[in-house]
Formats: sequence, C-alpha cells, structure tokens
Amino acid sequence: MTQYDVCVLGSFMKDLVARAERRPLPGETLHGTGFAEFLGGKGVNQAIAASRMGARTAIVGTIGDDRYGEEFLELLKTDGVDTDWVVRHPELGTGVGLPLVLPDGSNSIIIVSRANSAITVADVEAASPVLTSSAVLSVQLELPVEASRAALRLASAAGVTTILTPAPAGPVDSSLAAFVDVLVPNEVEAAALTGLDCNDSQVPVIARRLADEWNLRGCVITLGPRGAYVLDRVAGVELRVPAHAVATVDTVGAGDAFCGSLAASLATGTTLADAVRLANAAGALSTTMNGAATSCPDRSAALALLDS
Ligand code: ADP
Repeated sequence: MTQYDVCVLGSFMKDLVARAERRPLPGETLHGTGFAEFLGGKGVNQAIAASRMGARTAIVGTIGDDRYGEEFLELLKTDGVDTDWVVRHPELGTGVGLPLVLPDGSNSIIIVSRANSAITVADVEAASPVLTSSAVLSVQLELPVEASRAALRLASAAGVTTILTPAPAGPVDSSLAAFVDVLVPNEVEAAALTGLDCNDSQVPVIARRLADEWNLRGCVITLGPRGAYVLDRVAGVELRVPAHAVATVDTVGAGDAFCGSLAASLATGTTLADAVRLANAAGALSTTMNGAATSCPDRSAALALLDS
C-alpha cells in the first residue's frame, strides 16, 4: 500500500490584500479602504483540497523560518496535511502576495516568491521517499522548473500517477512532458500552450493537440463557469462536463480545488472522467465561499452536489 494518496509539490504564499478606491500614483501614499490576510499558494490550496476530499496528503515545498511559515504549518496540520517534508529556509522569508483590489473587483498583484524560489533539486531529492510512495503527485509551475522536473521524474520512475497544472500561464519547459500523465490547464493556460483560442469548438482540438504533443494519458481543460473538458486516451473517452449552477461569490482558487479533488479521486483508482465529475462539483462549491484554501469543500459536500 502507498504511504500517501496524494503528494503535492508547490508554493506557499501569504496574501496581504489591500482594498482602495484607486491605484496610488507614483510617489503617492494613499489610504486604503480595507485589508485582509489569506494563506494560499497553489501548492497549499491543492494539498488542502485533496485532504478535504479524503486523501492522505503530504506537501513538499519551502517556507521561511518566520511567523507566516508557522501559520502555514498550523493551517496544514489542522487540515490533516503532512508537513514533515516542508523545508524551512534559514534566510529567505515565506513567500508573499500583495494584491490591490479596486471597488469594481479588478486587482493588481505583486508577488515576492522568497523561500519558494529557493527550493533546490537536492531538496526535492531529499523528499524522494514521499514523492515515490504516493499514489498521485500533483505539481504546478510556481516553483523553479528544475525542482518541478526533478519531482515529476522521481515520481514517474516510481510508477506514481503525475498531474501537472501548467500555472501560471506561459511557455512551459518541454522537458517536463516526458514525466506527466495528466495535464490540467485552465482556458488561459491552454491557449498559452497552443496559441489557440479556447472557445467551445476549439476545446476538443486543444485537448487532442496537447495529449499528442505531451504524450499524455489524459488532458483536462477547466473552463470556469463552462465546466471542464476531459480527454482520457487510455479509456478512449472524450467529453464535456457542464458546470454546476451555484451562487458564486469568489472564483479565486477554483482551479486548485478542482485539481486537489482530481488528484484525490485518481489516487483511489477512479476513472479520469468520474474524477473530473467530482472535481467539477468541488470547483463549483469553492466559488460559493471567499478565499482559496479556506473555500475548498469536503468530500460529502461535493458528493451531495454531484448527486443533486
Ligand atoms: P482557475 O481557477 O484555474 O482559473 P477555472 O476558472 O477553470 O480554473 O475553474 C476550475 C473549475 O471550477 C471549473 O472547471 C469548474 O468546475 C469550477 N468553476 C469555476 N467557476 C465556476 C462557476 N462560476 N460556476 C460553477 N463552477 C465553476
């Protein structure tokens, strides 16, 4: 039996969100209208999502030896995520994001990766026991690509099912392809990878092209309020899963809730199409609450929505 169902290699980002009537001008000090703190980063969000969906989950990544780092360890412990493989960097602090949100909901964000950017191939290799003893490894692209590649390579060689979320959107190092089983881009990332517009008629074309180019077992494209598209090359299944109609208040982290849930289902041997159906419910529910990690639903809530 594997030691963990899901291992996530990824980022830790403490978000310090300011609200203001407008952006400050160069040299100007402007009074804000609100402030909130959130614990996030795609790695943390996906790990919590997987754990809430019932997976025995571990996270691998790097935080600072500081107060924000402590907050992450507490949060993950509360959510049952194993943090034994998290490295604390002696000098660089925990990663931070500084979003400025305007009254119309638009935002601009400064990200300072700090400890996230310091994870090395040696750190990843030191985590080999957990990377190779999990049923599924989920990786995103917020860490140095060498670290992501090392983790995917180790896991893939051990027969672990590997999932890559190619976020943030942009060109992706083609050397990762050899170690990825399932690619899960959102529509912006899918368009960035292929140069094609992710409209309804193009989605199947994009999924097939990515599956061919990356030699994937499966490709899942998340489509926000349009649901998700799944291509399972092993089962020979291609289908669109429509989104659930829910009272959406905040879509931040929907993709992470989706991917964490997908990883948890694949760890139990669920087919890719069924895993996408449950992830589609988890993603929808996450949009009904504010925040990212904190808005991930548990398995019973996602199953209830799926059955409704
Ligand atoms: P990301 O957060 O990476 O941009 P998406 O916006 O594609 O990802 O959302 C991920 C998944 O969450 C979607 O595939 C869908 O299942 C669900 N979802 C997102 N937005 C909504 C919405 N407004 N209503 C219902 N489900 C949603």
